Amino acid sequence: MSEKREMLVHVLLGPPGSGKGTQAKRLVENFSLVHLSTGDILRDAVSKGTEVGLRAKAIMAAGKLVDDDTVNGLVFARLQDENRNVLFDGYPRTLQQAEALADFLSAQSIRLGLVVDIEVPEEALEDRVVKRRVCSNNACGAIYHLDRKPAKVDAVCDLCGSSLKHRADDTAEAFKSRMKEFYATFKPLQAFYSGKSSYRLVDGTGMPDDVFVTVVKIFQKFEDTEERA
Ligand code: AMP
Repeated sequence: MSEKREMLVHVLLGPPGSGKGTQAKRLVENFSLVHLSTGDILRDAVSKGTEVGLRAKAIMAAGKLVDDDTVNGLVFARLQDENRNVLFDGYPRTLQQAEALADFLSAQSIRLGLVVDIEVPEEALEDRVVKRRVCSNNACGAIYHLDRKPAKVDAVCDLCGSSLKHRADDTAEAFKSRMKEFYATFKPLQAFYSGKSSYRLVDGTGMPDDVFVTVVKIFQKFEDTEERA
């Protein structure tokens, strides 16, 4: 239990295409954090054909949200076995998930660290998502954009040489459905966190490097404050 008390959970919020995944990958390289992306966990379950994966497959391909109990169950199982600081990416996605997470953290004496909300206007998001290509090797997970960050060799990952794929939920049609669902559930979620001292709103419209400078400053300042406390 005492180990758990030292543990912190950070949350990255933002719409699909806001750059959460990219920022999360870079943050975990710079700070000692474990990256927990519920999208990655669910895609892994789909590719392994587990019971959860079989249930989630069609829901995810249609750009809908997997039910709260399933996602909370996956997340809590991962947190139970963890004692390093965690960075969530894509979780919580609903008010119910945020409330369930708050109850779980409190029961386990785990502290909520930062809640960083990356804001990008909707017009900018569709282009980012529809032209996004991701490395098919989950262990690599590099992210490309057909115009802004193309791979050196078409459809081949610069980093590991695996093929690049266009995620089934990154089509224009699935994107529209995801955005509709996103805004319906996001406002109450944002309201839940925005009054808390952990909450930071970040402008995510710039290039990933520029956004990263802002996000790093926020984490650095947080760590400095923690060390002084
Ligand atoms: P992402 O990679 O975060 O964009 O997630 C891809 C898909 O996984 C989403 O469109 C949902 O279908 C599902 N998913 C990921 N995280 C969650 C979550 N916290 N709650 C419900 N569904 C999720």
